[in-house]
Amino acid sequence: MNSGDRLFGRFRGSATLQPPPAPPLPTPGVGLLVHLDHQARVLQLTGPLRYALAQPASGEHPAALADYLLAHSARSVEGSPQDWQGQTLDLDWRGSGGQTLHLRGWVQPAPQGWLLHLLDIGDLLLERQQAQQRQDSQQFAAQMSEQLRLCSLSRLPEVLHEQLHGLALHWHIPCLALALLDDQEQGWHIHGLYQGHDAPQLWHKGQALGTVLDSLHGNAPQSLTFTQGLSETPRLQTLFGNREGFVVPFRDDHGVAAWLLCGCYPVRQLAPQMGERDWLHLGAALAGPLLARLREQQHHNQLERLEALQGLLGTGWWELFAQDEEIQLAPQLALNLLLEPQTRRVPLSAWLDLIHPADREELRSRLQELQEGKPLLLCVRLQRTDPHQPPLWYRLQGQALGIGQNQRLVGFMLDISDIKNQEQQAAAAHARLDNLIAHSPAVIYVQQYVEGALQPTFFSDSLQPLLGWSLSDCNASALAERVHADDRERYFERTRQLLREGAVRSRYRLRDSRGEYHWVLDEARLLRDDLGMPVEAVGLWLDVTEATQASEQIRQSEERYRILVEDSPAMICRYLPDLTLTFGNRPLATYLECQPEQLPGSNLGDWLSAEQHDAFLQRIAQLTPEFPVSTAQICLQLPGREHAWWVWSDRGVFDPQGRLQEIQAVGRDNTEVRRAQLQLMQSAKMATLGEMATGLAHEINQPLNVIRMAIVNVLKRLGNGEVERNYLEEKLKRIEGQIQRAARVVDHMRVFGRRSEIEQQPFDPAQAVEGCLSLLADGMRGKGVELRVAHSEVETQVRGHVDQLEQVLINLLVNARDALLERRERQPDLHPWIALYTEHDPQWVRLRVEDNAGGIDPRLLGRIFEPFFTTKPVGVGTGLGLSVSYGIVENMGGRLSVSNTGEGACFCIELPRAEADQITR
Ligand code: ADP
Repeated sequence: MNSGDRLFGRFRGSATLQPPPAPPLPTPGVGLLVHLDHQARVLQLTGPLRYALAQPASGEHPAALADYLLAHSARSVEGSPQDWQGQTLDLDWRGSGGQTLHLRGWVQPAPQGWLLHLLDIGDLLLERQQAQQRQDSQQFAAQMSEQLRLCSLSRLPEVLHEQLHGLALHWHIPCLALALLDDQEQGWHIHGLYQGHDAPQLWHKGQALGTVLDSLHGNAPQSLTFTQGLSETPRLQTLFGNREGFVVPFRDDHGVAAWLLCGCYPVRQLAPQMGERDWLHLGAALAGPLLARLREQQHHNQLERLEALQGLLGTGWWELFAQDEEIQLAPQLALNLLLEPQTRRVPLSAWLDLIHPADREELRSRLQELQEGKPLLLCVRLQRTDPHQPPLWYRLQGQALGIGQNQRLVGFMLDISDIKNQEQQAAAAHARLDNLIAHSPAVIYVQQYVEGALQPTFFSDSLQPLLGWSLSDCNASALAERVHADDRERYFERTRQLLREGAVRSRYRLRDSRGEYHWVLDEARLLRDDLGMPVEAVGLWLDVTEATQASEQIRQSEERYRILVEDSPAMICRYLPDLTLTFGNRPLATYLECQPEQLPGSNLGDWLSAEQHDAFLQRIAQLTPEFPVSTAQICLQLPGREHAWWVWSDRGVFDPQGRLQEIQAVGRDNTEVRRAQLQLMQSAKMATLGEMATGLAHEINQPLNVIRMAIVNVLKRLGNGEVERNYLEEKLKRIEGQIQRAARVVDHMRVFGRRSEIEQQPFDPAQAVEGCLSLLADGMRGKGVELRVAHSEVETQVRGHVDQLEQVLINLLVNARDALLERRERQPDLHPWIALYTEHDPQWVRLRVEDNAGGIDPRLLGRIFEPFFTTKPVGVGTGLGLSVSYGIVENMGGRLSVSNTGEGACFCIELPRAEADQITR
């Protein structure tokens, strides 16, 4: 056209010729024939195309040719037809339907003007345009694919985006996305996308699309479907936001591998020239290289991972070239093996030299077998320069790929030193454990579950040393036979319980190979499979023969002790700190007049008086873990008996915190002994009395003499008739005084001779001093012995029996008197005296009896308290005085002691003062 323009230009303005007269126009079969005058006005139109023309724009007649043409064509036909002669005219005509008609023609002179012959070249033009655009599109595609192919992997996402952007701009696609299969090939996802600023947001990157695209692919497996697929599948419509769109598949060897999604895109309108193939080509140009690059990336990653993994595992591939006696190793592996890390091959011998000589020959032979097609699997050690280092172990695995000429021998080497070393350690530990088990008194066994029965399948090595059996001796029935006949029932119940409850613990006797029985403790557990079916029982026999025998011995010994306790004549019991009995033996029950079974729960306090009960509790409270034992004489009120005296020993049992938990006690009835003691004391008292009888005769004689003298004198006066009232009165009073004196002495003797009370009472020791003096004072004075008595002013009390303390004082005074009288016989100028005085301190009351009779021979000092020890002539001394006195004072919780003062002896009675609340007033 342009060249045409230039040509037109050249002829513009040339002279016009007079037109010849117009012959009738022939009507062509195709195209258009236009009869023009010399001013290029249309005189006539013929041919089929004339019906397709629009009416000329100007209403003039005849209309100019330019009026039939589009503006740009109109400009090209300026001037007259003569100017156009010899040129090809391409003219765009306005069609009647608003379309453009592309016509090509030429002018030739005709009578009265020119004939313009025109043919329709619309198809030609369209094809050319299409070819042009296809080329354009192919070029675009080629560039795109080149960009994607050549960019670095790191820039790939960026470049993809650029390409999508370019594609969208070029074909005016508002939303464009590329969907790829995701990693697990479960479905599609948006891999990359471009969206125009004013386009709706149809998709986002990474969006999972599921299998929605597969349905489309299923419907039209071979060809691309414009939009129609979308309207047919509602899910696809949703994917495209219910707007127009279309999809372009990309196929590779495995089928559709990518989809190009074009959203909001009326493709027919916006790219009418693009054919199906063009789109497929474009899609392929984008997706093909991209997928290849992604695969490359994946491959790269995989390689990297593999490299890293090989490095981490200390592993690597190798390939053997048997012909050349060479081997090639993965670089990392070569490095690990201290070979030059090279891709070149190394001689096989160099590699074999690295292997420990012990494994080398075997490896060589295995490599030989590998060439014959036998897979290789071998663990080898490396030769180490330092023999003290633990060996390096490699696992070698290899196989032959292909056959004949194409055979390749490949494999890998894996560093398994860790595993091997652990294996060796485990083996050593295992051996130690085996050894331990073999020497322990335990057998581990496994019994297989077979149709309801348990069949032994394994025993640890300790079976032989323990029972002398081997596994073959122990099938199920043989095992039962080896169980002691008495325990067999228990053994069968053990199996039943194991199957029923899944675990069991039982004890029975097994006969060993020598016929001896062992007590075994059998602990077993049933293992089940996933369905809950029993699989096997795992258990342990522990030889508990010794323990069982020991416990049997303990049981027997307990039984013996039980019999001892039961049959002991002593009373044995256990009770709680509140005196509640938890156990009591038969003798105790007999004393308390009940059955032994009735004793637990009853309270010891029920048989004690209130005072005894308090004293008992106080004594128990003083037990400590350091001094857990206490012995006392207790007094009980037994049913049917007046009083019983028991010697009672308690031992406290304490918990770890030192709290008293219970008391174990042993008692013995001491009533008879006590009674005998009392009788002894009584007889001693009587002896004292008897001894005093002479003195007492004097005591009573004295008033009797006075009375007799008074009566003689009164009678004399009466005989003389000198009865004077005053005189008589005075004599009678004297007589009465003397009678009272005698009565007092007799009275006190009666009191003194009485038996002591059963229970101790608090009393003032001064009473005893008074009672003693009332009996002895006059007699002493009569014998010329001075009595020096000094009382403490403070009133105090002690516990015991007042008559008994009086008896002690009498004994001491009488002994002192005897010693004094004896001494005076040898030393007549002696002025004999006895001092009796009382002292206190907060805890003790001390009564001292001192004399000046010269004291006691030091050699005899240690013996004078022995019963029947006396220095007095036979028939005079009994030797009981001091020993009984000693017992009395001790019974009152006190002490009787003696010492020599220089002038004589000094006896000291030391008594504990009664507690303030026990003092009676
Ligand atoms: P008896 O008086 O019957 O001999 P005792 O037991 O009372 O028995 O006394 C034992 C002995 O102790 C006496 O025989 C005497 O030798 C000695 N004795 C006791 N009191 C004194 C004393 N005050 N001085 C010297 N000797 C004494």
